[in-house]
Parts: sequence; C-alpha cells; structure tokens
Amino acid sequence: MRSLSREEIDINEEKKANKLFIILFYFIYIFFEVYRNFIRPLLDIAGEEIIFRSQTMMATTIVFYIVITSLLPISVWLTRNKRPFSIKYLYFSVFFLGILVTEILRYYGNSDTYASGSPVELFFVLFAPIYVNRVYYLVVAIGFVCKYSFMGFFTLSPEVTFPIVLLVLFSTVTFIILNRFKTYLRTVEKSYERAGHNEKLAFIGQIATSVTHEIKNPLTSLKGFVQLQELEQHYNPKYSQIMLQELERLNIIVNDLMVLGKPQALKLKSVELINCLSYVINLVQQQADNNHITICFDYDEKQIYISGEDVRLKQVFLNVLKNAMEAMPDGGEIKVKVRQEEKWTTVQIVDRGIGIPEEEIPNLEKAFYSTKENGTGLGLMVSYQIVEEHRGRIDVESEIDIGTTFSVHFPTPKIM
Ligand code: ADP
Ligand code: MG
Repeated sequence: MRSLSREEIDINEEKKANKLFIILFYFIYIFFEVYRNFIRPLLDIAGEEIIFRSQTMMATTIVFYIVITSLLPISVWLTRNKRPFSIKYLYFSVFFLGILVTEILRYYGNSDTYASGSPVELFFVLFAPIYVNRVYYLVVAIGFVCKYSFMGFFTLSPEVTFPIVLLVLFSTVTFIILNRFKTYLRTVEKSYERAGHNEKLAFIGQIATSVTHEIKNPLTSLKGFVQLQELEQHYNPKYSQIMLQELERLNIIVNDLMVLGKPQALKLKSVELINCLSYVINLVQQQADNNHITICFDYDEKQIYISGEDVRLKQVFLNVLKNAMEAMPDGGEIKVKVRQEEKWTTVQIVDRGIGIPEEEIPNLEKAFYSTKENGTGLGLMVSYQIVEEHRGRIDVESEIDIGTTFSVHFPTPKIM
C-alpha cells in the first residue's frame, strides 16, 4: 500500500473536520432559526415576531438563508479542488457578516436592549479547536468579542459585558486545550520520527555486521592462499582453483546484496538445470569434503530446461546447499534431486541435519533470521525473493534431528 504524504494526510483530516463541522452547523443553525422565528412567537414567550417586523428585516433574513444554503455546494466544489482549508473561514465570515447585518437592522432606530446572540456563535467558538489551527481559532474568538463590543456601543447596552466575559472565558479554556493538544501532537510526531530514524540506523548496522562477517571468511582465505603461493614461488594450480572458488563466493554475496538493494527485472533465458546445479555442487565440493559430506546428485534426464536467470538460480541453490551443509556438522549425505513434470520443475535438496522447528519455518524468509553465530540471515530471504521473481515457490519440510527438505519449484516452460 502506498503511504500518504504529509499534505494528503492534512487534506484528509481537514475533510473529516469539515464534515463534522458542516453537519453540526446546519443542525444547530436550522434548529435555532426555526425556534426563534416560528416556535417562540407561537409560544409567545418574548411576545415578538422579529423577522416579521419589517419588510427589510424579512428580505435580509431570506437572503441570509439563501447565502448560507449556497455555502454547501461551494464547499463541495472547494473540496473537489483540493482547497478544503478555506471552507471554515467561508462559513465563519458569511455567518459573521450575516448576523452583524441582521442585528444592526434589528436594533436600528429602536431602544430595545440588546439580547445577545445565537447558540451558533457558541458552536463556532467551542468547535474551533477541531481544526487544530490557531489562526482560525483566534479569528473566531476575536471576531465575536469585537461584534459584542460593537453591538454594546451601538445599542448602548452595558449588558453585553456578560456575553463578552463568557466568550473570553470559553475561548481561554478551549485555547489552552487546543495548545495542549498541539504540543502533545508535536511530541508524538517527534518520537515517531526518532523511532523511524533509529530503526533505519539499526537496519544499516545489521546489514553492515552481516556483510563484514560474510566477506571476511573468503577474504581471509584468499589472503592465505596468495601468501602460500608467494612462499612456494612457483605456480600451484590447486591454489588458483580454491582462490577462484573464494572469489566466486564473494561474487555471490555481492549478488545477494544487490538483490536486497534494488530488485532488478529478470533477464529470462532458457537455463539448463543439471548444468547449473553441477556448477554449484562443484563450488561447494571442497567445503563438503572438509566436513565429510557427500553430495549425491540424482536426475532423470540429461538436460532439464526452465526459463530463468542463470546467476540468480545459482545463488538460490548455493544458499540452500550451504545451509544444508551447515546443518550437518558431523557429516553425512545430502541429496540433490531434479524432476520435471508437466506443470512444475522441482529441485529438491535433502539433508540429514539438525532440522528446523516447525514454528520457525515462517521466519526463514525474513531478513536476519539466523540461528548461526556467524550467520547473516539473508541467504534464504534473498532466495525466496528470487524464486518468487521466477514465479516459483519454496516448500520446506523438516524434522528435528532427522533432516530438512527444501523443494524449489519452478513453472515448467510450455515449449521445451
Ligand atoms: P544464515 O545461513 O546466514 O543463518 P539463512 O537465511 O541462509 O541465513 O538461513 C536462516 C536460518 O534458517 C539458519 O540460520 C538456520 O537456522 C535455518 N536453516 C536454513 N536451512 C536449514 C537447514 N537445511 N537445516 C536446518 N536449519 C536451516
Ligand atoms: Mg545461509
């Protein structure tokens, strides 16, 4: 799954906040307007019908309703055009202007005492923190305080001090909460960043250690043989043979790492498996002899072809074969079998080694899973990856102290 960029996350969060904000806004707004203009006059609580008082008042109110309703399609349009951040300011400014005009009209030319505003204002102040945006928050809080101060002077009502004090109180409390929330978010963000960085460093560290271990052995051996060759002062083909083998080992390790670094597209060709496996067996023969291991190569036909990349396939077989040998510290026999059937071509490598506990088998394809003192835990991971790239699969069967069978399956090519 693709991970979202910071900007996309911000847009998504803003959209969620907008949705909640708009639903609540219309709900509270409609409810209050219906109550104020229709239910309250019916109940005759205040004994007045504000919007029906004058034609101007009524016309303004209707225009205000139309404008507020038209904000809904505008918000949808802004969201589609990736500008959801302006929606909250739009609602606030339209509502603010509308209520200011209505109130001026309502109190102009009479001596009514100013009866403070609507619950929608309270909603704006209390819900401003859902945007986690200080600028918007300050605009809302300061805007309403200014409106009340202005209306207080305009209607000469000292009563406005009460809603102003209330507003300032609410604003301060919500502002403190908003700030706490922001600091909390920043701390969480920082600790995530730090964790991600440390994880990367640890990963690089692990790779570096593994690579050093893996490369050190063939390098030490190469150095030894170069020194021996120098001491003997004449060319010894036996040493050259071993040195070439060690160089090939290095080559394979580097190839493993390259697969890890950047997976490249396979260059598929027809590969002859018997030849490929003989090459790999030959490569480890020396090590097998040293550990009293015999490798028994068993196949039906002289030539078996699959479609693949020769170097990568050798890498897989070498990794599995090396593991098999390392699982048999007391020596013994390893069987390598090749079978070609209609659908699948299978290479089986069977050892009589220490075995793998059943619950550990899923870990084999993970990086750095190793039970060996000098293991890299990369070999099988790379092998699984290569086989997968060949559209094949690896099956593992194992019994503790009896042995392990690695079956590497490749699709049999259609035209042979
Ligand atoms: P490494 O060989 O460096 O440890 P691998 O990825 O090649 O890394 O193997 C991972 C682990 O899987 C080994 O450490 C070993 O515990 C286990 N394993 C792999 N093949 C065998 C096997 N034939 N017999 C027993 N254990 C095995
Ligand atoms: Mg290995």
